[in-house]
Amino acid sequence: MAIKANSVVKMHYTGTLEDGTKFDSSEGKEPLEFIYGVGMIIPGLEEGIEGLDVGAKKKVENIAAEKAYGPRMDEAMQEMPKEQLPEEVRGQLQVGMQLAAQGPQGMIPVTVADVKEETVVMDFNHPLAGKTLNFEVEILEVRDATPEELDHGHVHGPDGHHHHHEGEENLAPEEKSLEDSLDEEKSEK
Ligand SMILES: [Zn+2]
Repeated sequence: MAIKANSVVKMHYTGTLEDGTKFDSSEGKEPLEFIYGVGMIIPGLEEGIEGLDVGAKKKVENIAAEKAYGPRMDEAMQEMPKEQLPEEVRGQLQVGMQLAAQGPQGMIPVTVADVKEETVVMDFNHPLAGKTLNFEVEILEVRDATPEELDHGHVHGPDGHHHHHEGEENLAPEEKSLEDSLDEEKSEK
């Protein structure tokens, strides 16, 4: 069965940057399982694997930032007083350090861009924003998503078992992009 809209795809993947640095991989871990065509993976990778069948191996190369994690945005840099940070973080601040910040839609990765005397500059850009990405994928399994999975917006276990928390169905499965969360964060200020 070839990958098309609303397929549930199970695949192994390795993602590299232009210089060959590996930034993520399912190697030695559980393969990635997702519903195809609903934005669960970056658009460039969705395009690159369309129509592939079980057993296929492919290099999807030169995915532009626009079809990956988006461009870097200067306005996503934010200077804040150190005292706003938890004490255990304050003591070990370093440029390049990654933290997780509570955004309106859950945790988002934040990078420490600069440490000054009283303040710290946080970079809310996704660590992969502005970067061209390459992926190597191996398709392990392709099947049609069940109506229930499409309704929930996520993949269920092999026996249709619900592996998510009770009550989750009542929540909108849509996860907003980082850009949306940033916009909302700003409008609050
Ligand atoms: Zn569910």
